[in-house]
Amino acid sequence: MTATLMIGPYSETDRDAMIEALDPVVVSGPGDVAGLDDATRAGIRAVAFKGHSAFGADEMDLLPNLALIANYGVGYDAIDVTAASARGIKVTNTPDVLNDDVADLAVALLLMTGREMEHASAWARSGEWQAKGEYPLNRKVSGGKAGIVGLGRIGREIADRLAAFKMDIHYFARSEKDTPGWTYHSDPVSLAEAVDYLVVALVGGKDTEKFVSNKVIEALGPRGIVVNISRGTTVDEAALLDALEAGKIAGAGLDVFLNEPNIDPRFYALDNVVIQPHQGSGTHETRAEMAALQRNNVLAFLQDQPLLTPVN
Ligand code: NAP
Repeated sequence: MTATLMIGPYSETDRDAMIEALDPVVVSGPGDVAGLDDATRAGIRAVAFKGHSAFGADEMDLLPNLALIANYGVGYDAIDVTAASARGIKVTNTPDVLNDDVADLAVALLLMTGREMEHASAWARSGEWQAKGEYPLNRKVSGGKAGIVGLGRIGREIADRLAAFKMDIHYFARSEKDTPGWTYHSDPVSLAEAVDYLVVALVGGKDTEKFVSNKVIEALGPRGIVVNISRGTTVDEAALLDALEAGKIAGAGLDVFLNEPNIDPRFYALDNVVIQPHQGSGTHETRAEMAALQRNNVLAFLQDQPLLTPVN
């Protein structure tokens, strides 16, 4: 009897690799677990989970012998870890292997927004370059003041990249880090007041909901640009939309939103926003590493070996 249940929207490559390594039962989302017969559900000891649909106590209770949930992704906010811990279920994630791609995308969003690259591209493609000449001047990004909200694994990679752009680095984290030359702020409003670029790299979940509040957005001011590669939940999205529409901040570069992929249509009407479809870690190379780390956590568990990247 197969011991692994594979849940989520996997690519064909990742699914094939998982099937070869673990011969799992495959379903497309948490809502499908209830449809499995009793014997299959009783045989499941490990879940390989991918996606942003909630996997909570109800789903766990449908799998009486579940002891591991291996998440595909570093962010595990879709999984109720408290409920898992209460049931003795271990959770793993895939940290570090995706830092470079997500940090690259954050920097790209900052440059695209600040240098108006989507508009400038449209200027060339539409014939305005020939008809009207040079694209209107925009702003210098290098040498500016950047504030990282959440100096964790990804936040630090973003800060390192922005330091190479000669930027003055400020950051918020719950505790000060050993980062000579960078300025620590113990609250996000003070951070936003000090910078023009606010890059959000927090964990998602209840504890960080609307952490970038209306007050933080207002403190950033009219030259401010918000970049979010974390989760849509970490920013007060209604306050962000209001500020963008009113010109209270200059722009935003966003990879993550509430209600993905059905994001608030107000975003599409704004010309000071660069939108990406939550593709931070979405390269062949990184996704292959994430999938391998997820599989190796499941294999370690099934072979009674220590988990590679435990969360709880
Ligand atoms: P990490 O190393 O755990 O860093 C998370 C940061 O969040 C840390 O600075 C941490 O503060 C801060 N934080 C955690 N809980 C907090 C709280 N309750 N209040 C305030 N700050 C809190 O995580 P990571 O590996 O850098 O990943 C960060 C997030 O990026 C993931 O959780 C995920 O949601 C998102 N992500 C997005 C994509 C994408 O495709 N766009 C891809 C991968 C990850 P301390 O430093 O004080 O601990």
